[in-house]
Amino acid sequence: MPKSKIDFSSKNIKKKKFKIKRKVIIASSVLIASFLCVNVVSATFNYVEEKKQEKIQQQNEARAKMLEEERKRKEEEEARKRMVGVNHEAKAYTYDAVKVQEKLANYDYSNNGEKVVFLTFDDGASTTVTPKILDTLKENDVKATFFVTGSNIERGGEEAINLVKRAFDEGNAIANHSYSHDYKYLYPGRVLNLDNFLEDFKKTDELLKEILGPYFSTRVIRVPGGMMSWKEMEPLKEYLKENNMASIDWNALNRDAEGKKKTADELVQNAIETSKGKEMVVLLMHDTYGKEETAKALNQIIKYFKDNGYQFKTLS
Ligand SMILES: [Zn+2]
Repeated sequence: MPKSKIDFSSKNIKKKKFKIKRKVIIASSVLIASFLCVNVVSATFNYVEEKKQEKIQQQNEARAKMLEEERKRKEEEEARKRMVGVNHEAKAYTYDAVKVQEKLANYDYSNNGEKVVFLTFDDGASTTVTPKILDTLKENDVKATFFVTGSNIERGGEEAINLVKRAFDEGNAIANHSYSHDYKYLYPGRVLNLDNFLEDFKKTDELLKEILGPYFSTRVIRVPGGMMSWKEMEPLKEYLKENNMASIDWNALNRDAEGKKKTADELVQNAIETSKGKEMVVLLMHDTYGKEETAKALNQIIKYFKDNGYQFKTLS
């Protein structure tokens, strides 16, 4: 009998089973290996992707931080611009001090047909007179410009500091009138010493920042004794021009710092007489110690300007 092509002998069947088993094992191993491989690749991929996302996130955060910083910087800059000697609400009462400076320098007291008065008070704050001045301004709902001196603020301590805050909060302008008010230091031999002058004004600037906040600044100054009183003032004028600042003298005064002491009535008359015929009036007065009569006269002075159609503005 010829041998069948298909060998059904048990030996062969075993052999075949073994082969199949082996194939299954190999196939399974390959499958498992590939599965593991895929997992490893996928894990690696995920890791790389995660790192990439992390980096993007970090970059986004850094960018957001940068934008936030830029926004804050701009905000501060805007705040600084808003706080030119007055608080934000009081902006409506301000008048460009550089223009006033130019007009005064040219003896041009016109204002396009509109009457405007700047009530200005020098040498404060004082704990005795400034509160009365502030009360009268408030009662009349008008604003003024206070040319303060740092030494007098320090002399008045906490009380004077609070008066500067109050003046500012109530919409008045705060301007710089030096720290020492010492003619011999500012103008030795009647000649300007610019270094001394700037250092002295800087002291009051810094004091005002301490009182009114770091964003407070004023570009308005008044030269102690008046610009016209001293020699070689050109370097100061150039400095002011370069820094977009203004020094404001006056074109009217109540004479509360001249000669013998005057009564409130006399002060009122002086204010009226020196203001007559002027569309733009910068009225010099003082709110320092001993100027009680000025405080008494203020109500009448305000009444005169109101009755004569003047608007009350501040220098900024
Ligand atoms: Zn003065």
